[in-house]
Amino acid sequence: MMFLNKIIAFILPMMPQKLVWIFSKRYIAGQNLNEAIITAKKLNDEGNMVTIDLLGEFITDMSEAEKNKEEYIEIINRAQKENIVGNYSLKPTMFGLLIDKEKCYGIIREIVAKAVEYNNFVRVDMEDSQCVDMEIDIFRKLKAEFPKNVGLVLQSYMRRTMSDIDNMMDLNTKDNPVNYRLCKGIYVESEKIAYKKYEEVNEHFLKDLEQMFKNGVYPGIATHDEKLVIGAYKLIEKYKVPNDKFEFQMLYGVTPALRKSILKKGFRMRIYVPFGKDWFAYSTRRLKENPKMAQEIIKALFIRG
Ligand SMILES: Cc1cc2nc3c(=O)[nH]c(=O)nc-3n(C[C@H](O)[C@H](O)[C@H](O)COP(=O)(O)OP(=O)(O)OC[C@H]3O[C@@H](n4cnc5c(N)ncnc54)[C@H](O)[C@@H]3O)c2cc1C
Repeated sequence: MMFLNKIIAFILPMMPQKLVWIFSKRYIAGQNLNEAIITAKKLNDEGNMVTIDLLGEFITDMSEAEKNKEEYIEIINRAQKENIVGNYSLKPTMFGLLIDKEKCYGIIREIVAKAVEYNNFVRVDMEDSQCVDMEIDIFRKLKAEFPKNVGLVLQSYMRRTMSDIDNMMDLNTKDNPVNYRLCKGIYVESEKIAYKKYEEVNEHFLKDLEQMFKNGVYPGIATHDEKLVIGAYKLIEKYKVPNDKFEFQMLYGVTPALRKSILKKGFRMRIYVPFGKDWFAYSTRRLKENPKMAQEIIKALFIRG
């Protein structure tokens, strides 16, 4: 299967975009803001909160960063106008993290300040390992200025994550708990810095989550892995965590049955809603980075809806 995955991941970027869209559209809310808003409303109607993400990352020219900022400002204004129940996620490399860190910070700060006007929230997604220290720095600075309005993502496959949780505990107060999304991590990292085995990544996911619950951190439990969902239920029970002190999170289009079963238990659920013109580059880059995803694409070809 691994070999087949690799072939598919290799071939996909050469396929016509229209064909790739047939199976990508299950995971992408649309190519423009109108479509994203329609999807967000539908998810809200089904009882989910959302986090809206404009696709794009690793820009090579700072002029793109300004354009991306304008788009985010428009998203925030529009979502507010449409009464969307949700917040925003962004990737710092979309604002030039790897070109000019200070400018990138300034741009993200402006986006957060816009969200703050509406008492809303922006999450800094975590990208590959070259970005981790810089993204933590950005989060620290933002959190100092906007204590209730920013969050960060942590990846359980990174060996450093538990110490990152501990090192950032100074940011965690009773009034303003730190808000992390905990996920496994999507990038391909070396064994030196990342756990590679499924069992190890899962074991550390639950250890990280337990550390968060023990310390009153607000976690977004971001997984479609039933074993982790069950593990999270046990921890919620063990620490008697009230329902408003955490949430589950899933990607748009993935495991809707599991999502519904979590909602049915009365837990909060937030869906990550990615959209934008960069969908093709995003889908194919993800596949090249992680050919295991090809399996999901194959499934999506046969199982729709
Ligand atoms: C809300 C959210 C935000 C995220 N943000 C980040 C981030 O900022 N940085 C980062 O590195 N990673 C991010 N991720 C991705 C994450 O790191 C994982 O790569 C991804 O969630 C798959 O891991 P899993 O926990 O679902 O477990 P897996 O073991 O990968 O999957 C469990 C099961 O879920 C199903 N499944 C998983 N993915 C798919 C799919 N694409 N299509 C169909 N079925 C699927 C399959 O049935 C699979 O067997 C995010 C994930 C979520 C849910």
